[in-house]
Amino acid sequence: MINVLEFFRNLPMKNCYKCGDTITEKADCYGNICDDCDHPAR
Ligand SMILES: [Zn+2]
Repeated sequence: MINVLEFFRNLPMKNCYKCGDTITEKADCYGNICDDCDHPAR
């Protein structure tokens, strides 16, 4: 049996492909981009 914590620790971190920030609590539909980079107007 694999430990649940080990399982999550082995998951790849989601990072913004533009600035490299770690993305947390993002829906998959957003892709790999953080809030800051998600707004083209900025
Ligand atoms: Zn970003």
